[in-house]
Amino acid sequence: MTTARRYKMNVAGVVLCCGDLTALGRVAGLAARLTPAPSPLSREIKRFMRYMSCWALGLGVFIASASLIIGYPFMQTTIFVIGIIVANIPEGLQPTVTASLTITAQHMVKKNCLVKNLEAVEALGACTVICSDKTGTLTENKMVVQHIWVWNNVFFVQDPEFISAVENHHAYEYLLTCGALCSNANLKSGGGIRGDASETAILNFLIHYGGDPLTVRKNYPKIAEVPFNSVNKYQVSVHLDTSKSQYMVVMKGAPEVLFARCSTVATETDDIELTSEMKVLAENNTEDLANTGERIMAFADLALDPKEYPLGFEFDTDNPNFPQEDLRLLGLMGLMDPPREEVRTAIGRVRAAGVRVMMVTGDHPATSRAVAQEVGIATSQKCHVVTGNELRNMTPDLLHWTLDKHYEIVFARTSPTQKLQIVEACQRQGGVVAVTGDGVNDAPALRRADIGISMGITGSQVSKQTADIILMDDNFATIVTGIEEGRKIFDNLKKSVCYILISNVPEIAPVLMFILFAIPLPLGVMTILCVDLGTDMWPAVALAYEGAESDVMARTLRGRDTLVSARMLRLVYGHLGLIEFAAGMFAYFIVMAEHGFYPLHLFGIRQRWDNEAVSDLTDSLGQEWTFSERQEVQRASQAAYFVAVVLTQMMNGVICKTRYNSLFHVGGS
Ligand code: ADP
Ligand code: MG
Repeated sequence: MTTARRYKMNVAGVVLCCGDLTALGRVAGLAARLTPAPSPLSREIKRFMRYMSCWALGLGVFIASASLIIGYPFMQTTIFVIGIIVANIPEGLQPTVTASLTITAQHMVKKNCLVKNLEAVEALGACTVICSDKTGTLTENKMVVQHIWVWNNVFFVQDPEFISAVENHHAYEYLLTCGALCSNANLKSGGGIRGDASETAILNFLIHYGGDPLTVRKNYPKIAEVPFNSVNKYQVSVHLDTSKSQYMVVMKGAPEVLFARCSTVATETDDIELTSEMKVLAENNTEDLANTGERIMAFADLALDPKEYPLGFEFDTDNPNFPQEDLRLLGLMGLMDPPREEVRTAIGRVRAAGVRVMMVTGDHPATSRAVAQEVGIATSQKCHVVTGNELRNMTPDLLHWTLDKHYEIVFARTSPTQKLQIVEACQRQGGVVAVTGDGVNDAPALRRADIGISMGITGSQVSKQTADIILMDDNFATIVTGIEEGRKIFDNLKKSVCYILISNVPEIAPVLMFILFAIPLPLGVMTILCVDLGTDMWPAVALAYEGAESDVMARTLRGRDTLVSARMLRLVYGHLGLIEFAAGMFAYFIVMAEHGFYPLHLFGIRQRWDNEAVSDLTDSLGQEWTFSERQEVQRASQAAYFVAVVLTQMMNGVICKTRYNSLFHVGGS
């Protein structure tokens, strides 16, 4: 079903491409409509339960017919069948699941990871692909302006000669004004700056390098503004130049978007026409700066003709009625955002665990590639960069092919809708996908993903609401903890299931012995229930508290691992279960023999043994037994069987504590 639905949602996703504010409502709507696929854990449990139910019912029917054929009354048969079915159902599983998930969630909160949807933690352990944001998640989100480009010159701002080089520089002066008007950051009354990282960086730069943003803002009051969004990748506002009583448009945004909208460029002394050769030059400069991992923003302005736009003109921002073309290019700023220190190791560990990490960002391809190389998403030159434009023209098949062909992929200049497209492509390839996102527009991708991860600090409300997990410190490295915990949960569930299944053998086999070999019943229905609902339940839940084993992060095949594997069934039914059964039968035969019924004597005795009218049944020594005396011996032997099973189950509890590690090397969690 999922494939068809995912395709349909994809179509809905494309509608989203408009950048205005109404898109917000639409994003929320789309996010609400997208149904997340069931988590890998619930799929596994469902599958397991289905098999168990079929097996239990099948066995129940078999026992019922056998018992009726042998000639047991209907009531007796019903009790048998109930016993068999209850014996087969793993009652301990659900409490174990709940306990594991809750313990883990509590654990993760201490590590700055808020789990909203419990099953998502386990899904994180099964995840095969992580699509990560760049800004803030992989990087510090502490930006500083490092390079300035004005009129064909790149300046390093910390260079001592920088200030003198741009003195009386025509373009630089306007760049300062434009920067002051475009930056949305504000000075706080007690000092310091309030605003998002890049806006803050710009304001900080202006203050330290010759600008006077407060005066500029006073002299050019803002009349109208279209805020930045990740789809348009620019922001534009209209200001009133009070000294000339004239309106002015200022724009800042991604370089290639602004270059396309500029027709003149400010030079050292003057404005000249921006020819296509100059555009190529500017683009090359952008590329060079981006190659160092800097986020590049371009600035442009345009003085509006007072005749066409007289004072008091009504500017409309929903359907902009002012020119946004033929602007004057002022310059570029390169903002450095250092990668987080822990991220490189974290990505190394994630990759060793067989999880693929892809970067999906709105930033420039060169910037993205540089950062990808720094954090270890891209090793060597193998990394493949796909831009949003290329992605738009890709058929689903081509996208699949690309995902198959290149292991290291960076998606650059993407829009949030394309994030959804990438998630769906990975899922169609059978991947379990984790996605990080902070923006409003990320909500659909977060919801569609198997694990949606939002950011506690920079994340928008909408993204936090749709996410399954919130990283309180915005840090990618925290995801690694999540993967480890998720794998631990699954491991512990396997231990628990293994433990629960083992006791099924000594519960079912005596009934089969009773039917097939006609011996007196070695384990009664009551004792079956005692084992199943009494002594077995608690150790099974306790296994949820086991710590992670040393190799959880080294295993790469978790994706294909199932809750109950053929190997486990062989171990359970073919090995450990049989040992318990043998122990139980041994105890049963001993008690019977002590009373005079030697083992061989018991075979085929059932009909007379269970017959109330027979009061002279002879044992191996020739003593005669009445019905009520026989009942007493049977109870004694059943008790012995029960004790044997409980004792061996204790041993099993110890055996199941670890899967890979030696018992003597189990660390506390
Ligand atoms: P991401 O969050 O993945 O790094 P964004 O979609 O936020 O990418 O940004 C894409 C591009 O838009 C940036 O490379 C930059 O050039 C430009 N940009 C980012 N933030 C702003 C902003 N506040 N104002 C203007 N342009 C911006
Ligand atoms: Mg962003």
